[in-house]
Amino acid sequence: MFDTIPDMAAKRAELSPDALAFHDLATARDWTFAEVNTAANAVAAGLTARGLAEGDRVAILCQNRVEFFITLFACQKTGVILCPLNWRLPAPELVEIVAQVGVSLILSDAGFSDVAAEVAGATETATLSIETDLAAWIDAGGPALNAAIPATRPWYLLFTSGTTGTPKAVIQTARMAWANAISIGQAIDIAAGDRAACFLPLFHTAGINLYTLPVFLWGGSSTVLAKFEEGPVQTLVASGRINQFFGVPAVYQALSLMPEIADVDWSKVRCGCGGAPLPEPLIRFFAERGADVLNGMGMTESGPTVFLMDAAHAGDKIGSVGKPQSMAEVRLDGVPDGVEGAGELHLRGPGITPGYFQNDEATAKTFTDDGWLATGDVARRDADGYYYIVDRIKDMYISGGENVYPAEVERVLNAHPAILEAAVIGVPDERWGEVGAAHVMLRPEATLDADSLRPWCRERLAGYKVPAHVRIVDDFPRTAAGKICKPDLREAFDHD
Ligand code: ATP
Ligand code: MG
Repeated sequence: MFDTIPDMAAKRAELSPDALAFHDLATARDWTFAEVNTAANAVAAGLTARGLAEGDRVAILCQNRVEFFITLFACQKTGVILCPLNWRLPAPELVEIVAQVGVSLILSDAGFSDVAAEVAGATETATLSIETDLAAWIDAGGPALNAAIPATRPWYLLFTSGTTGTPKAVIQTARMAWANAISIGQAIDIAAGDRAACFLPLFHTAGINLYTLPVFLWGGSSTVLAKFEEGPVQTLVASGRINQFFGVPAVYQALSLMPEIADVDWSKVRCGCGGAPLPEPLIRFFAERGADVLNGMGMTESGPTVFLMDAAHAGDKIGSVGKPQSMAEVRLDGVPDGVEGAGELHLRGPGITPGYFQNDEATAKTFTDDGWLATGDVARRDADGYYYIVDRIKDMYISGGENVYPAEVERVLNAHPAILEAAVIGVPDERWGEVGAAHVMLRPEATLDADSLRPWCRERLAGYKVPAHVRIVDDFPRTAAGKICKPDLREAFDHD
């Protein structure tokens, strides 16, 4: 499907030049599509003048700002591959990434110029400043570029969240971006004039693709916030400035704890969620405030949208991530098509990555011979064709010969009134092989006697699923995407 795709910024500048593309909250500056395209042409000229060409890599180290997207579109125009860096990482880790990817230039903003200089020094890479050098390029301008883009040419690289191990660099293409825009656009009904918020970090797929880039492609606008902070994000919702909202569960959790939440009318925004299991109490919490938080599933490797719940069934299919969206082909290992059952989720279609960057071994391990991506997730399909993410295969443990998926136990724990969030891991046990160790974080001001959780679980779970250990924790180790990092929990448990 689609061998070439029109230059995305140039196409929008042709279709709706004067419409709003971005509002940058930090600078209070509005950018029209024409301005974004003109700036992207200028940055493309700047990159070319520095000798960068198709296939070369440029890293970018900054929090969310419009220049990030301008650079992204400049890279699409030139074939230079953009590598957004995780600004939460210390310099030594960034050095490894920059060396692994083979970067020729690091762009950074003032907030990260020291780290960028350190990384550049250690890797013999050049650095440029977004505020001065990139701004000078933009002022200088450049020729209007509008060539067709090879649909599967590497456009930018995104690292996976590192929830199960070392993050892997996933190639992202223009075709993946359009496949995602079509799937998500249909699922949440994006239209020109829609207004989204861009606060998830841009070094993760959700930051770029849920929903900023799809909204751009459909002709809507995004308000860009440097990062997620409850106050400003809640103000955006309350003010009616946005009508499309995407968060990971940790975002909804943080917003739900704000004292002012009672005054916010959530019915004004359409809410999507994904990236990790969405606790049911959170769904109910926002439903009581007028919003159906639609649970979806995707991954960095799938551009990311695969599933999204439809609003019409949000109430009667709680826990489901909905049906595979229009650009996603899905199969469950060992389960015939159209039949109820559970198995490893496999994905195919135009939204799926061509592979991991310069890592043929990982690519070969992840893809089957006939081109399916093995997700490492177990999913279940019900009789109506709705899907449920059971858990990651890697997180399953075996207790007394029985498979236990921690996510099922976590759902039961999350329903307890005193518990804000729970994470369960399998730990070695002499008698049963493995048993569950539950880690629970309490709601503010709640108290809980760990022993009282046993009867709560016994009433709701088979005996072998009831966690043998319960620990009350103040917080969880998390990835930059806000997901609970289970390898770190396992390590901490081993050391206690
Ligand atoms: P790594 O691949 O480095 O271990 P990761 O898998 O967390 O990290 P991402 O690509 O950000 O990296 O996340 C995709 C994964 O997140 C999916 O494979 C799935 O395990 C999980 N996930 C996404 N959405 C949901 C959801 N709605 N419910 C449960 N799990 C989800
Ligand atoms: Mg993964």
